[in-house]
Amino acid sequence: MQERYFAEMIALAAVRHPRTREQMAQCRLSGEDFRSLADLARLPVTRKEDYMRAPDAFRLETEGLPEEMRAVWDVMYTTGSTVGTPTPFISTTYDFFRILEANRNMLRLRGARSDDIIASLFPLTPRPHGAFIRTLHAAASLNLRVVAALPGNPSPYFTLGNDLDRVVQVLAQCRASILWGVPSYVRRVVARAEELGADCSAVRLAFVTGEGLPEPARAELTAALRRLGTADAWVSISYGATEMQGGMVECAPGSGYHNPAPDQFFFEVVDPQSLAPLDDGKPGLVLLTHLRRRGTVLLRYALGDISTLSHDRCPHCGAWTDRLVAMPRRADRLMKLKGTLVNPDVLVQAAEGVLGAHEFQFAVSSSGAGDVLTLKVAAGDDGMLAASLAEAIKRACGITPAVEFVAADAISDPSRSWKARRVIDQRRPM
Ligand SMILES: [Zn+2]
Repeated sequence: MQERYFAEMIALAAVRHPRTREQMAQCRLSGEDFRSLADLARLPVTRKEDYMRAPDAFRLETEGLPEEMRAVWDVMYTTGSTVGTPTPFISTTYDFFRILEANRNMLRLRGARSDDIIASLFPLTPRPHGAFIRTLHAAASLNLRVVAALPGNPSPYFTLGNDLDRVVQVLAQCRASILWGVPSYVRRVVARAEELGADCSAVRLAFVTGEGLPEPARAELTAALRRLGTADAWVSISYGATEMQGGMVECAPGSGYHNPAPDQFFFEVVDPQSLAPLDDGKPGLVLLTHLRRRGTVLLRYALGDISTLSHDRCPHCGAWTDRLVAMPRRADRLMKLKGTLVNPDVLVQAAEGVLGAHEFQFAVSSSGAGDVLTLKVAAGDDGMLAASLAEAIKRACGITPAVEFVAADAISDPSRSWKARRVIDQRRPM
């Protein structure tokens, strides 16, 4: 099936996709040179920056194609990195039908049932974003009930946002069985529901996406869900991307992230430096190729994360679809801090090692004396914590942070961003 759709996709892209036309011309290739997916590696890798710089070059020219392939159904935006601006991702009607199929498969892989009631804990965003919108569509794809809890106030022009207590009340009233949101906010909602003694006994699943969830934090959230809801409640993590309008999902904790629609998404892993394709089991840069899109089309597109691919049958659910079997981590975010290159993931891991499930955030700012690294922690200081954190961070990257203890909303606040950022760079860009 992948070969059949790839043949269609590459034939269209060779003629109607400005970015691919340009790449083929530069490499003296034509559509004829791509007889199967084995030839895909002839096409150069596309980086996020290439797409952000010229999003229109990635849009298929659809004149003369059937109406469903021409009509723009909706436009979503990427979140934008610390420096990047949000980039439009255009879906035609045809693409929207595919998104519904992928969403349905995601729900099935995660074990959704016909009697489930989904509570969406995603806030609205200043621009259309898949997190809020596709959750509603996902429910439609499997004919499930969904309630949007509308947390926070994402804009001064929006008047319907709910505070945390009201969100808890909504969950209890609608008898939600699935909580769907970013892990930092799902954790806050669950903790508050426990404090209030709200009846959330139907909760049996949490779907989380958008932020990392280290295993100690997953264990804590799972335990909290089981106190609040059913005795076997569990947490399914998704590796989501605007470029998929969905995500690769777990069927069980630690199962790896399943490709929910192999007819639509083809994944490769390549060496981050040489960009040479790597075998299954070797960690490298994850590339996505769209096999069935007519709006924005990305071929050999680096999602920006390092992971490992497996085509082995999933030992948990028996699916044959490909899976990423290592938690994807950012590949491209080295920061210069006090003259040293620092990998933000290393900072995050060091803090997680000490803090477990407590929320935290690093902020880099500049003062007259140079860069300042601050670690904000949503916990009380027992007199020892600040010192052990400072020491762990210094051991990891050579820089001693200033540690501040703050309230949870200072870090995870749905009124400011739909997901928590672990490391923010507040210095002015050079
Ligand atoms: Zn599975």
